[in-house]
Amino acid sequence: MPAKGWIDVSDQYCKGCELCISACPQEVIALDMSRLTPKGYHPAHLHKDGCTGCAICALVCPDAAITVYREVTRASVPA
Ligand code: SF4
Ligand code: SF4
Repeated sequence: MPAKGWIDVSDQYCKGCELCISACPQEVIALDMSRLTPKGYHPAHLHKDGCTGCAICALVCPDAAITVYREVTRASVPA
C-alpha cells in the first residue's frame, strides 16, 4: 500500500507559479481558483486523494511554501 501524505501550502509564500503542479508525480496538486492569497495569487492545494508524501513538490517550490506530512504506520510489536 502506498504511503499516505498531505501538504500544507502557505498563503503567505505561495505565488501560484505552478512548478509544484508540474513536478507532482501523483498529479494531485492544482491551483485553488476559488481563493486568493493576501498577495493576490491563486494558491496551490491538493485537489484529490493520492498524495504519497514524497516531498518532491516541497523541493521544487522556489518559495518554500509547502510543508509535507506523511502518515506513519507503526508495526505492531509482538508481546
Ligand atoms: S508530496 Fe509528492 S505526491 Fe504529495 S503533493 Fe507533493 S509531490 Fe505530490
Ligand atoms: S511551487 Fe510553491 S509558489 Fe509555486 S504554486 Fe507551488 S506552492 Fe505555490
